[in-house]
Amino acid sequence: MARSEQLHNRAKKVMPGGVNSPVRFYEPYPFFAASARGSKLVTADHKTLVDYCMGYGALFLGHGYTAVIEAAKAQMDNGTLYCVPTELEVRLAELVSKMVPCAEVVRAVNTGSEATMNAIRLARAFTRKKDVIKFDGGYHGAHDYVLVKAGSGAASLPASEGVLEESSAHTVVVPYNDPAALERAIEKSDAACVIMEPVLANIGLVLPDKNYLSEVRKLTQQNDVVLIFDEVVTGFRLAPGGAGEFFGIRPDLATFAKAMGNGFPIGAIAGKKEIMQQLAPAGRVYQASTFAGNPLSVSAAIATLEVLQQSKDAIYPQAARTCDSIVEGIKEELEDIGTGIDCTINSIGSMFQLFFTADKVRDEASAKKADAAVFRRLFDELLKRNVFIPPSQFETCFVSYAHDEEDIDKTVEAYGEAFKKIKEQQRKQ
Ligand code: PLP
Repeated sequence: MARSEQLHNRAKKVMPGGVNSPVRFYEPYPFFAASARGSKLVTADHKTLVDYCMGYGALFLGHGYTAVIEAAKAQMDNGTLYCVPTELEVRLAELVSKMVPCAEVVRAVNTGSEATMNAIRLARAFTRKKDVIKFDGGYHGAHDYVLVKAGSGAASLPASEGVLEESSAHTVVVPYNDPAALERAIEKSDAACVIMEPVLANIGLVLPDKNYLSEVRKLTQQNDVVLIFDEVVTGFRLAPGGAGEFFGIRPDLATFAKAMGNGFPIGAIAGKKEIMQQLAPAGRVYQASTFAGNPLSVSAAIATLEVLQQSKDAIYPQAARTCDSIVEGIKEELEDIGTGIDCTINSIGSMFQLFFTADKVRDEASAKKADAAVFRRLFDELLKRNVFIPPSQFETCFVSYAHDEEDIDKTVEAYGEAFKKIKEQQRKQ
């Protein structure tokens, strides 16, 4: 029996479903990780995989990036938690503020969910309005305000049990890339905020139409609705200043996590001073956490952001080139295979996803038309060839600065062989 299977059998007895987060499970059992370095993840069964999950986007610099690990190790000798202010926290807030155009004031938190939950609370307090507008397929963490028609692991659930109707009654869901629908929703609701992933990355990868984000900005501004960019995926990844910088749009608030700490648990809420100053103790919006600003995560985040800022001219173009080469290579493999497999690939910067549908994917409805069962076969075939992508059609593949030419060749070859297998299986059916 494989070591991963043995571990899963043990895990199932003491952990719900044998995992600590639902997206990690797939049938019959997930592989277990033993270690990771650069673009590679080593399994408990001693297989070395090229990783495109990369901590669901967190590891933009790659696993175990030396400067980040060294910063954390150095801090560890000086203590891991003080729960009093540190100079490190000030340095981090200054860095974020310098890098992110909308970030006048910054509050550090631990996770993306914490960031979005409190950004929404802030928006409600600031506007004295109640409703939250989110987008179909947009994922903002697993808390009650936003677990409505959400993406990621929740994409296959109509709603989560245990979320009170009363708490989701104030959440209005509209289709992405449809400014008229957003305008109608704003008119009809008591909207405190619009919370959006500027690029949807939890329903596969879905890009904004040209001018869509500026339309959203205009509509929210005209109606005194706080615009929250949830940059948990795009922050520090699409550009040093995230999607806000990439698309030249300034939201009122932005939330960060993932790439901010390159694998360490840290996040942030950032934005306009007049809104952010409502956070306690400056204001009357209560948000608190024992581990917020802990020196270990903060040291890792400072090292990450310093590298990203200082080497931005090398890192961002290289990661984007690697991603482009993989996408071009996959497209060539699809052409070689000829008819029979309908695919659409969306990509931007260092992110891509392939959908098994011939139609353009520009919102949740078109993403859901993709054949998720064939995608699952793709996942299995790639894994057999030591390439690890997230195990769902409704996730995104992440390229890091550590992925190299050899990874590109191996990955493209694996996709090509997987397509052949899928075509063979389809012929037999
Ligand atoms: N927002 C977005 C866009 C995400 O992708 C995620 C997680 O995948 C979250 C929020 C929640 O972040 P966390 O899992 O750190 O709570």
